[in-house]
Amino acid sequence: MKVPYQSLEVIHKPLKLELEEAYRKVFERQWYIQGEANTEFEEAFSCYCDTRHCVGVGNGLDAIRLLLMAYGIGEGDEVIVPSNTFIATALAVSYTGATPVFVEPSLQSFVIEHSEIERAITENTKAIIPVHLYGNVVDMEPIMELAKIQNLVVIEDAAQAHGALYKGSKIGSLGDAAAFSFYPGKNLGALGDGGAIVTDSKEIADRVRMLGNYGSAQKYKHECIGINSRLDELQASFLLVKLKYIDEWNRERQKIAKKYIELINNRYISVPKVEGSVYHIFPIFCETRDCLKQYLESKGIMTIIHYPTPMHLQGAYIEYCEMKLPIAEQISRTQLSLPLYPGMTDVEIDYVIKCVNGYENKG
Ligand SMILES: *Cc1c(COP(=O)(O)O)cnc(C)c1O
Repeated sequence: MKVPYQSLEVIHKPLKLELEEAYRKVFERQWYIQGEANTEFEEAFSCYCDTRHCVGVGNGLDAIRLLLMAYGIGEGDEVIVPSNTFIATALAVSYTGATPVFVEPSLQSFVIEHSEIERAITENTKAIIPVHLYGNVVDMEPIMELAKIQNLVVIEDAAQAHGALYKGSKIGSLGDAAAFSFYPGKNLGALGDGGAIVTDSKEIADRVRMLGNYGSAQKYKHECIGINSRLDELQASFLLVKLKYIDEWNRERQKIAKKYIELINNRYISVPKVEGSVYHIFPIFCETRDCLKQYLESKGIMTIIHYPTPMHLQGAYIEYCEMKLPIAEQISRTQLSLPLYPGMTDVEIDYVIKCVNGYENKG
């Protein structure tokens, strides 16, 4: 039996007619950038996130970068980011000329918490980027309190947590602004690259729109050094189709995760329990992780490591290589993501559980 890590085919096949119709409409209009579909998607997605404004952008990295630019963050500023995240979070900070400051996550939730953040604040700190990693929801309330006292901007990196709830409120509506990615494999994914920012601030939304459109709010008038990062009409129209299903898909992810949590039982493997996750990723932890990965592959089960190298040990961040970030290092060394996707069958889920339970430590 073969179990893929994820299957876009299983998600997209039932939507074939709807997606083709979406394509047909864009083709008929022959308008490909900043048109009706983008406007309609922005309205739908801001409504979905319970925020006043949404601006479609080219990808998730640009969404973070444009927000930092809109808040005027740049050289000499420090921005707090988790030590364990996808590199885009840190890169977005580096692009602005500001310095990413890595903060260790909690080993219970795998996301950053206010106490560690507080210890990293200096007089140069301007912003915090909590990442809802794996779909796990950051405890935002104490972070927002801290940010208010210290006068810091909070930008949620919500690239892995579309639709997740924190105390009944939507992820993306908790910070000053939030960045989303619609990379195809995300909980809400386009059929290509895509991203968006959401915020209640009209000023910030307008600035992001201008900055992502060559620094121009009016054609051929350029008020500042912007970039080109826009959500194109095809992706916006595909996203409008898929947005209708996100809650259903998230519920399915949670159902699969619940089964994993209840039934995986192996003394070499730890299975974290977290509240409210939308399980972009289902992580397990094992001291002999590489061996476990290989064993599962031999059983036809594909897994992925999120992420094998922490930020401070990447070539891109060589200046941080002397840093000791033991939690990020431990997670990188032991983490493994199990297959989990909407449309995964009970037979597949049971097979994964059976194989994981049958693993014997060869370390
Ligand atoms: C995917 C991702 C991004 C970047 O999104 P892209 O659309 O690939 O640029 C940023 N942050 C996190 C946590 C992500 O998972």
